[in-house]
Amino acid sequence: MRAVLLAAGGETELAEPPLPPPREGEVAVEVETVALGPLDLLPATDTAVVPGRGVAGRLAAPLAALGLAAGARVAVDPRVPCGECGACRRLEPAACRRPGLAGTPAHPGGLAGRLTVVPTRLRPLPADVDSELGALLHLLALAVAALETAAPAPAEGVAVFGLGPLGLLVLQLARLAGCRPVFGVDPLAERTEAALAAGADLAAVDPAVLREAGGGGLPVVVASAEAGEMVLAAGEILAPDGRLVAVGPGLPPLVLDGERPASAHRLPHPRSRHWRRALALLADGRLDPTAVVTHRTTLEAAPSLLRRLAREPGAVLCALVHLRR
Ligand SMILES: [Zn+2]
Repeated sequence: MRAVLLAAGGETELAEPPLPPPREGEVAVEVETVALGPLDLLPATDTAVVPGRGVAGRLAAPLAALGLAAGARVAVDPRVPCGECGACRRLEPAACRRPGLAGTPAHPGGLAGRLTVVPTRLRPLPADVDSELGALLHLLALAVAALETAAPAPAEGVAVFGLGPLGLLVLQLARLAGCRPVFGVDPLAERTEAALAAGADLAAVDPAVLREAGGGGLPVVVASAEAGEMVLAAGEILAPDGRLVAVGPGLPPLVLDGERPASAHRLPHPRSRHWRRALALLADGRLDPTAVVTHRTTLEAAPSLLRRLAREPGAVLCALVHLRR
């Protein structure tokens, strides 16, 4: 089966890469839709990868253990339990100490077209969540995890560093939670415009502007790896007793100006309850994650889209790749 390969240096092509053989107990998922964004380019490696962490598809065969029929629609968690640590051997993969990540050299992502995964990576989708929403569910669950951990009170101010699709979803959730003000920071001016359109009170490329507007600091800062190196400037906006939450795969170590803030959390993966909360948010209709989508394309056109994602990060925020339609 043809897949998209992303090589070091951002070169991409359609190829038929050797994929890992299915392991015992794994189930096959035919991928329908993949959400691609700036986080899919992280972490940069010297080895080619099959990208795609936001994945929705259908089960190739029934799965009695979860009560799912063949063709049942699922999202696929890109967090891959190692299968060998104590937690995995106790059948508690959510507590795995050494999880891998899809879209890295060891684990193919959704642009493989077909994935074989352990059932604990499946997130069954209700009938009213289509494959586009299913593909965006991972990002939304990450945004939910960030806001739940930061736990802003309704009137507290939140600054979001990194205004790619994940940061924009965090911003929308902060708005829904009644936070005021909500600020956005990103090194790319086009992304700050997207943040204003998504409801930010103020967005800037210069953190100092927001520090001043926030009266010297805000109680909550959520930093997404989408901010790139600038994520390390997130502490500049944080009030002295504020909470900093960094979210997403590929984050640099959280050492800000040589020291850690009083309250700092690093969240590379959402947990099961964050996935459930994200599904509940979709069900009640108050949030539409497709608002962050700027492009829709096919598997054949995905390599050129990935090149644009790397070279024009201000223009391509989030692309949905439809593999079957
Ligand atoms: Zn493990």
